[in-house]
Amino acid sequence: MTVEVIRKNCIGCGACVQTCPFDALDLVDGIAVVDPEKCTDCGACVAVCPTMALSLEGYRKPEETVKKAEEVIKEFKPKDPIVNAYFGVWVLIEQSYGEIADVSWELLGAGRRLADDLGVDLAAVLLGYQVKDKVNLVYEYGCDKVFLVDDPVLKDYRTDPYSITLAMLIDKYKPEIVLMAATTQGRDLAGHVATKVGTGLTADCTELKIEEESRLLLQTRPAFGGNVMATIVCRNHRPQMASVRPRVMAMPERQEGRTGTLVEEKTEIKEEEVFTKILEFIAQGGSAVYLDRADVIVAGGKGLGTKENFQYIFDLADALGGTVGASRAAVEAGWIDVIHQVGQTGVTVRPKVYIAVGISGAIQHLVGMQTADVIVAINKDPDAPIFKVANYGIVGDFQKLLPLLTESFRQKLGS
Ligand SMILES: Cc1cc2nc3c(=O)[nH]c(=O)nc-3n(C[C@H](O)[C@H](O)[C@H](O)COP(=O)(O)OP(=O)(O)OC[C@H]3O[C@@H](n4cnc5c(N)ncnc54)[C@H](O)[C@@H]3O)c2cc1C
Repeated sequence: MTVEVIRKNCIGCGACVQTCPFDALDLVDGIAVVDPEKCTDCGACVAVCPTMALSLEGYRKPEETVKKAEEVIKEFKPKDPIVNAYFGVWVLIEQSYGEIADVSWELLGAGRRLADDLGVDLAAVLLGYQVKDKVNLVYEYGCDKVFLVDDPVLKDYRTDPYSITLAMLIDKYKPEIVLMAATTQGRDLAGHVATKVGTGLTADCTELKIEEESRLLLQTRPAFGGNVMATIVCRNHRPQMASVRPRVMAMPERQEGRTGTLVEEKTEIKEEEVFTKILEFIAQGGSAVYLDRADVIVAGGKGLGTKENFQYIFDLADALGGTVGASRAAVEAGWIDVIHQVGQTGVTVRPKVYIAVGISGAIQHLVGMQTADVIVAINKDPDAPIFKVANYGIVGDFQKLLPLLTESFRQKLGS
């Protein structure tokens, strides 16, 4: 006796495939198929099937579950079997020599919400070398499962071994959603993987949501130079792949002691097949500006009028122990280096306090800073759009206001 599939009831959701502890089920043309050699009649798949498409002698479902299943079958509109074969939400954990980038936790927070809305598992994919000790930390940021590939060929980030390994995992396990960081590494990897698995990719998303009826991932990002927010869906290919910049999504709480299931996999690629070799790492010189990690940012714009006037911004930032940001117009005027630029083509920031001085509030600037906890705008034009997103606004000339503010903070903070 093995589990029987009632084909007319099967909607190809894949819940049974994901649940079976013995790998005894698969989806063939969108319909569940049982491997009698592997099936142990444990009943796990029968319990989880939402449409009573699996039966096992002696197994009885509670009456209300049976009623619900009948409703699901009645309402069900058949979909593309290929799309239906994909199940679950994945987040790629970005790490460099074992140090995990914070954006990975932010993505796990976003992934958790999507997985809960879909009623599926959230899994993380950890690729690297000697990174197994990080698995427990990954669970603590909210995932149910970790797919780990720990191999010397993955020690340094290189496009081929990483993209081949991730594409191989996607082909094998078929997640419906894959989220990656829109960092230098993530941008390189996401496009290669999407091409390899034959799906689309929405880069630099600012919002991710599930459309209730269709279960599609709604991927929102700025388009046409940031003047419109476009919501993109990937209807006919899987997985639905999206990348998100650091600091766009909120950091989830770490839940110490939270645990999950570890799936260890192997990569197919060998070192001798990789053409790129890392010979040496040379750290970038000059002073680094960690805008994306700053708690306080004082940013200056074109309204400052001259390069020299940026000193007002540096003085206030210094008094507050903050970091200096800038609008693109100020960068293009040659007043400050591009590493200070905040916005769509600069850095996305999420500080506790963002003080915008002489910045009008163009949409391309706002998309990079509007999730700051508190926004203070200083502008001589009372109708400047920046005031629409500001919690506090001061209308006036920065040359009069900034020295007063700087002095007052210096006295109060003893800075
Ligand atoms: C594809 C694309 C990508 C872009 N990416 C970015 C980006 O990443 N980041 C970005 O910032 N922009 C970006 N931009 C440019 C953006 O559209 C705006 O042009 C830019 O943000 C304007 O900078 P600003 O506010 O400093 O200058 P302005 O718009 O010229 O505003 C200057 C402000 O200073 C005020 N002011 C003048 N004098 C004083 C004074 N004495 N005291 C107080 N206030 C004063 C004025 O009232 C005015 O509101 C992008 C544009 C495009 C098309």
